[in-house]
Amino acid sequence: MSAQNPVFIPGPTNIPEEIRKACDIPTLDHRSPAFARMFKPAVAGIRRVLGMQQGEVIILPSTGTGGWEAAITNSLSSGDRILTARFGMFSHRWIDMCQRHGLDVQVIEAPWGMGIPLAEMEAALRADTSHSIKAVLATHNETATGVKSDIAGLRRALDAAGHPALLFVDGVSSIGSMPFDMAGWGVDIAVAGSQKGFMLPAGLAILGVSPKALRAMDSATLPRTFFDFRDMLKAYAAGGYPYTPAVGLIAGLAKSIEMLEDEGLSHVYARHHRLAEATRRAVAAWGMSPCAATPDLYSDTVTAVVVPNGCDGTELVQLAATKYGVAFGVGLGEVAGKVFRIGHLGMLSDVMLLSGLATAEMCMADLGWKVQLGSGVAAAQDYLRKSANAALAEAA
Ligand SMILES: *Cc1c(COP(=O)(O)O)cnc(C)c1O
Repeated sequence: MSAQNPVFIPGPTNIPEEIRKACDIPTLDHRSPAFARMFKPAVAGIRRVLGMQQGEVIILPSTGTGGWEAAITNSLSSGDRILTARFGMFSHRWIDMCQRHGLDVQVIEAPWGMGIPLAEMEAALRADTSHSIKAVLATHNETATGVKSDIAGLRRALDAAGHPALLFVDGVSSIGSMPFDMAGWGVDIAVAGSQKGFMLPAGLAILGVSPKALRAMDSATLPRTFFDFRDMLKAYAAGGYPYTPAVGLIAGLAKSIEMLEDEGLSHVYARHHRLAEATRRAVAAWGMSPCAATPDLYSDTVTAVVVPNGCDGTELVQLAATKYGVAFGVGLGEVAGKVFRIGHLGMLSDVMLLSGLATAEMCMADLGWKVQLGSGVAAAQDYLRKSANAALAEAA
């Protein structure tokens, strides 16, 4: 089929035409002033999107996973203790990476569908009177379950316990589509990737690093070369990179930030909230519910839909791909088969979302699930119509 449908996976996301064009540039000498002219506004824009006041932005040719690795290897040493919670596939993978790096990982298990258990985190921090925990790792938006955690609350827990640990936050599926306040939340390292909220192809890990995390660089002994912040910062000071940067993606990143700021970050976040709410109305009309246990945990970038007993979410995803050429996300790990995921982050409009909801319904009907065709679409239409005026008025 030659038609190009939008994707509804929670990353990579749909790429706006303007960004595709911005990435398509002739070869450029990355040691020339032309590169610095392109790079500096991108870095400045990232500071605004992350809500940074101090510290440094690091942009690596990599992906979000490489951003995690860069965060831990630049700040920690073998055997260092870290505290984190596991409540989905992405929090799990970060834990696995830390263990493979020889860190001593204290894991608080939480049911999938719940967020970071703040009270238990605080208790663990209070119990650590010798301050052996060097860093707390948090997944802001657990993409596997569609759960948003309270990072401000986690900062309050650290402060209430009087604990000096660094706070590292995975914002790969939230940053650029949901509010993120690095300075306000006292985040020491924030990790993003290019292919989600920034609407670019995969290929960049984007990090915000606080002054405190930068100081940790000097004593950290985990091995790193390609990801060494010290080399990056030395090269940045001269307007360049220690190696060949992903020049096209950086050109696209500058355009991405321009687009986000032209719309206005608060409007971008409001748009994602509306799209998420419309999705949740559809899910309720189908007689299903989000995997996220309570409304305060609902993610505005991805909804993991719990499918009825006897139904298989993966079958729906496969059918959508083969029959209709539309991509949804499968359930991962513990929730494999039990959910399918609708990504509603990055470039997405009301009209695009409705097409995805309609496709999901066709698949449900095809699979013999007990769902009335049009029921979820109607619920979403109703909400989108009613909330559109308010959104337009606010944008004006
Ligand atoms: C996508 C994602 C990652 C992994 O990022 P890659 O760019 O695929 O390496 C990590 N964490 C979260 C929360 C994600 O959504």
